Amino acid sequence: MNQAYLDASRPIDERLADLLSRMTREEKVGQMLQLDARGDLPHLVTDMHVGSILHTSPERVIEAHRLTEQTRLRIPLLVGEDCIHGHSFWEGATIFPTQLGMAATWSPDLLERVARATAVEAAATGIHWTFSPVLCIARDLRWGRVNETFGEDPHLIGELASAMVRGYQGSGLTDDTAILACAKHFAGYSETQGGRDASEADISRRKLRSWFLPPFERVAREGCRTFMLGYQTTDGVPITINDWLLSDVLRGEWGYTGMLITDWDNVGRMVWEQKVQPDYAHAAAAAVLAGNDMIMTTPNFYDGALSAIEQGLMSETDLDRAVERILRLKFELGLFENPRRPDYERINAVVATEEHRALNLEVARRSVVLLDNDGVLPLDATAPAKRIAVVGPLADDAQNQLGDWAGNSGQAGWIPDGHPREMITTILDGLRSVAPDDWEINYTRGADILRLAPDPEGEFFPDGQPRGPVVVPIEADPAAIAEAVTAAEAADVVVAVVGDTVELTGEAASTATLELVGGQIALLDAVIATGKPVVVVLLAGKPLVLPASVQEAAALVWIANPGMEGGRAVAEVLFGEVEPSGRLPISFAVHVGQQPTYYNQIRGQHGNRYADLTQRPAHAFGEGLSYTTVEYRSVAVREERLTADDTLVVDVEVANTGSRPVFETVQLYIRDEVTTYSWADKELKAYRQVELQPGEAATVTLELPVSACTIVDAEGRRVVEPGHFTALVGPSSRDEALQGAGFEVLVS
Ligand code: BGC
Repeated sequence: MNQAYLDASRPIDERLADLLSRMTREEKVGQMLQLDARGDLPHLVTDMHVGSILHTSPERVIEAHRLTEQTRLRIPLLVGEDCIHGHSFWEGATIFPTQLGMAATWSPDLLERVARATAVEAAATGIHWTFSPVLCIARDLRWGRVNETFGEDPHLIGELASAMVRGYQGSGLTDDTAILACAKHFAGYSETQGGRDASEADISRRKLRSWFLPPFERVAREGCRTFMLGYQTTDGVPITINDWLLSDVLRGEWGYTGMLITDWDNVGRMVWEQKVQPDYAHAAAAAVLAGNDMIMTTPNFYDGALSAIEQGLMSETDLDRAVERILRLKFELGLFENPRRPDYERINAVVATEEHRALNLEVARRSVVLLDNDGVLPLDATAPAKRIAVVGPLADDAQNQLGDWAGNSGQAGWIPDGHPREMITTILDGLRSVAPDDWEINYTRGADILRLAPDPEGEFFPDGQPRGPVVVPIEADPAAIAEAVTAAEAADVVVAVVGDTVELTGEAASTATLELVGGQIALLDAVIATGKPVVVVLLAGKPLVLPASVQEAAALVWIANPGMEGGRAVAEVLFGEVEPSGRLPISFAVHVGQQPTYYNQIRGQHGNRYADLTQRPAHAFGEGLSYTTVEYRSVAVREERLTADDTLVVDVEVANTGSRPVFETVQLYIRDEVTTYSWADKELKAYRQVELQPGEAATVTLELPVSACTIVDAEGRRVVEPGHFTALVGPSSRDEALQGAGFEVLVS
């Protein structure tokens, strides 16, 4: 063998240098491209020397590898996919709750296991790289992508994102069940204008450093191997070419050595959408010079980059840094020796195993959040036979239950019908299997949600980009509602399952309102007006605003898109086979006009309400009920005077004062009483989850390095300011739910 780069016994640096020296300019440009595998594969691989593909069907990935083997240098492909809550587009894979749903568990351990299971399934099918997790902070609930986030709190996001990265990347890239994780969307994409997707983000560097960057910094330092950019511009600069963020902060301050990929056609968008680059040559040069390594789905980057070199806008050696990073990953993954193709024997052994299914059920159970309960729950399965009327368009909607980035959500054409129906337990299925045999369960749909219609403004935007269809709500149908009311009147209890569908969440699907769409409000109003106990199950990708009638409902449960086992999990919670333990990773609004509703807002405004409405959220970050009562007693700090090098230790006695077990999430918020620069009134800094039997009390100890009690100063530095602080402990972020103990940080 005389080609050093193919010799696995040689050091990676040597192999890399050898390979780079053999590559033509065209091959280098192609190596930087990740293109859509739904396109003309022979052209992509043979003529454009593409380095990576995404969105590939099971058949096309095999074809892509075959074509790659015939290329001059046989550089293996890196295959990427959005496996963001399970291997979403592999028919029959395990589909877990969406990220926001999983965040309601507040459990890094569970999320690490979910990511591991996803990696094991995805790796067997030939996927090397998942575009997950999302570290964007949910800010405006109208934003369509709230469902993809871990919610509104930077600390919780950091904990959960770090866990998922560990799970995906496993014990290291040489392990063939490891897949590359991707922290996205770096950074500030969620700071929208009016919730509109990818709009200008009006955000200062200090604000970025205060809330948006910390979770990214954490995973960068912990070894997340790839980062993806967002779409927005900030201060006039598209994030794709934000030199300060990419070079000074990410690569400089944080020492990140991984790969950086643009988002979908970011380079093209600078030309055709944001109009900040005159042509593809300039856009390509700007993207390369700003430090991007891989360019997602901008086929024109190919000619653009070559022309940029010819015009002297950049030099060929500017490509080398990016190409090196890409190839280094391929060497580290061992793809030259084993391109990790789909392996059908392995697929049969590891995809959707019993073990993954059990894990999925466990996560779904833990993600159910009980928000209100007048005592109707749990339903008593030992009581004489009862009749349940199940109503609502989402009670038996298998595919919508899975949420965005799954099955037939529209992002992958090769499973048009979604995941196999028999793998999914809807809420109706769950109730039927969990309820005692002699209970009667009747289902009446009662309302529809929406239909899609062509955009009245035409099929294409002026620049030729396609316009998606628009949502048209389906009006309430009096006959359908009357049928539901009749069923409710004949029942002992009503379970009403309402919420949203994939058309109302996700990318380019922000909503102007947060209300239930279609006939759902009228349906709820009518069944609640019967006076029967109504359990409202809100199956919604993001927090919605519920009609006033729901205040008269007997109970309210929120479950984001809960995945394949979601229906069983909900039924088990309703029947008390499982205690509800989910806690909100995000606040719910009373009215869309309250946006933003996140809890950790900056102190200072006139008053604390609107003239015409309270500012209080309907349900606040951290909230979630149990079937028992819990008392927090005697919050105390062990040392009241500390330096920045010390660890704050807080003890709290937590008692289960009811008659059922509880899985309680004990939350510690820190309030810095006086700060030199305006700051959030309180911030979650630590939490612990404890199980307590009825009547049991325990002292829960929370520890926090004082060095974490920071603010960001005017120069963007994180500093601990000496002075008075309060440790606030309780079951949610609501002031009235928290008990405080003061401490002082002394000048070190
Ligand atoms: C999304 C990313 C996603 C990518 C590839 C983009 O439009 O913003 O989150 O990973 O497409 O599907």
